[in-house]
Amino acid sequence: MLILGSGGRESAFAWKLSQSSDLAKLYIAPGNAGTAQYGINVNIKATDFDAIAEFALQNKIDMILVGPEEPLVLGIHDFFLAHPRAGHIPVIGPQKEGAQLEGSKDFSKQFMVRHSIPTAAYRSFDRSSLEAGFDYLDTQQAPIVLKADGLAAGKGVLICSSIAEAKEELRAMIADSKFGEASSTVVIEEFLNGIELSVFVLTDGNSYKLLPSAKDYKRIGERDTGLNTGGMGSVSPAPFADQSFLDKVEERIVRPTIEGLKKDGIPYKGFIFIGLMSVAGEPYVIEYNVRMGDPETQSVMPRIEGDLLDLLQGVAQGDLAHRSFSVSGQTAATVVIVSGGYPGSYETGKAIANISSVKESIVFHAGTRAEGEEILTAGGRVMAVTAVEDTLFDALQQSTADAGRIYFEGKYYRRDIGFDLLDF
Ligand code: AMP
Repeated sequence: MLILGSGGRESAFAWKLSQSSDLAKLYIAPGNAGTAQYGINVNIKATDFDAIAEFALQNKIDMILVGPEEPLVLGIHDFFLAHPRAGHIPVIGPQKEGAQLEGSKDFSKQFMVRHSIPTAAYRSFDRSSLEAGFDYLDTQQAPIVLKADGLAAGKGVLICSSIAEAKEELRAMIADSKFGEASSTVVIEEFLNGIELSVFVLTDGNSYKLLPSAKDYKRIGERDTGLNTGGMGSVSPAPFADQSFLDKVEERIVRPTIEGLKKDGIPYKGFIFIGLMSVAGEPYVIEYNVRMGDPETQSVMPRIEGDLLDLLQGVAQGDLAHRSFSVSGQTAATVVIVSGGYPGSYETGKAIANISSVKESIVFHAGTRAEGEEILTAGGRVMAVTAVEDTLFDALQQSTADAGRIYFEGKYYRRDIGFDLLDF
């Protein structure tokens, strides 16, 4: 088995897969200092398709699990299918067309409208329709949401508090290429007022399994203030997503999504991460992602009771319907520890101390590297600390306390992850 990626998400996949009795050998490319506990790190970038294929052939890899979106949007699955010698190796993750659900906001909005999946009302504009975009904004009310169509490293969404600001930003995105090529088309979308959560689905293209739900925390500052980050923490399950809400999600969103992919003739084998807004108890899709989330995976994997490798084999072989797992009734909470300065500029190469003092939580490495006996920081998000406990309160207490035990110069973490959910 080969996992592609180097973050906390891939650490959580590696941790879970390493528990499978069927696993003969696990490789992670490129991995981090933590994934080396579960398998063998291979120094190949997740976007170097030729090198990945050669490695996979030489090492008789039976399956490739793609962690991040970039290789999927760039077509790694299609690359393997077309490869003269590596075409038989199953890739978990959609082909390029399905990956457009994440790679293009306009594509995903059209998909939702076509299949009557609840989402915010929207219109798309580009350079040829910029004036029409200004006219459209005059008919709308603030706040209003502007989204760069393409991948913009999580930065391409702007929530504008006035129509005048929205016009300025629309011009900056389309005419001045604020997010480069990604904002040459812009989706203007109604602002949804509610509470966010994520639902994860695994599909072989025919049937699907609902994985545990989660809520993530994106802002750098406590009480959700400051700049957006890749993710500062997560909790699974989202306590406000009760069974009746999840039933609505399954009926109105998950099933029509899988059926819609089939109707559109889009093959899809892999994870679908559905970002939702609960508006007065009614679910709306904010976005699709075509892979698992980071740091949601770190909270979701420990709650899956069963063999992840068996589920992935079901995806690859198209018989997922015959595989099963159960979901732990416990709560998982994940606190991400970052380098000082992140998400702005930060230093790396700081020695990390006291990891072994964490006894009750799982430490998932992200931006780390090993140098001799030492573990050094090597990125913005350095590690994620996940506690699984009987109650939400205990999981939050434990993960926050354990995040406090780990030390490196400039270390920062939020002490409030999940505490807002105690009232639900
Ligand atoms: P996205 O990349 O589409 O997930 O958007 C990033 C973030 O912007 C989301 O996680 C939401 O917090 C927010 N957002 C996106 N679309 C909307 C919307 N229509 N209404 C309110 N907030 C939104």
